[in-house]
Amino acid sequence: MKPQRIGIFGGTFDPPHVGHLILAAEAQDQLRLDRLLWVLTPDPPHKQNQRITPLEIRVRLLQAAIGDNRSFELCRVEMDRPGPHYAVDTVRILKDQVSSAEMFYLIGGDSLHDLPTWYQPQQLIELIDGLGVMRRPGDQVDLSELEQKIPGIALKIRFIEAPLLEISARQIRQRISEGRAYRYYVPPGVYQLIEELGVYHLPSSSVMRVKS
Ligand code: ATP
Repeated sequence: MKPQRIGIFGGTFDPPHVGHLILAAEAQDQLRLDRLLWVLTPDPPHKQNQRITPLEIRVRLLQAAIGDNRSFELCRVEMDRPGPHYAVDTVRILKDQVSSAEMFYLIGGDSLHDLPTWYQPQQLIELIDGLGVMRRPGDQVDLSELEQKIPGIALKIRFIEAPLLEISARQIRQRISEGRAYRYYVPPGVYQLIEELGVYHLPSSSVMRVKS
């Protein structure tokens, strides 16, 4: 029997937007993934100086983004353990849970550029079967430089073909706080929930970082 192919897509998803959904859907199609796990990170190590929306709200937003897509799953592997939440530990745990599966870690081009600064990047690359990368406007990816820092990474990278999308959660938060149009940057269910809960509507400078 062919091993199951599992995509692991980690993020803060504050809020989830169409860039995330297009990345996930294209990765699923192009890497022929059987399951795609959306791994919500409670308290990302690289966003320590940033205000993060409480976890329970981000869970609801992510559930709304996933909607009725049955091959997308909200994965609690990081929410259910104390931090710091490193990708390498997440992959180890998931591999223990489904040892026969092939694991594909999914990221945007900006994250690929930053990968050498992640915790144990070499071990992460050795653990996974592929690294699905969707390019992002302005990302700088020098594969030979990356290969020097993390030997073996080039062979693992699978670029995902998709239009470059100049959309980020930061930009959406800013648009909302300034009362600008943002509706079609997020899936309909996410838009409805943001409006219902009033999240992101205060100017970002007036809100304290809230730890979940
Ligand atoms: P923020 O603007 O708050 O930093 P973000 O939009 O980058 O957030 P994250 O939750 O931090 O969203 O990202 C999760 C993953 O999705 C990362 O690997 C990131 O590179 C990728 N990603 C996010 N937006 C895009 C996009 N427009 N194109 C390609 N990849 C993206």
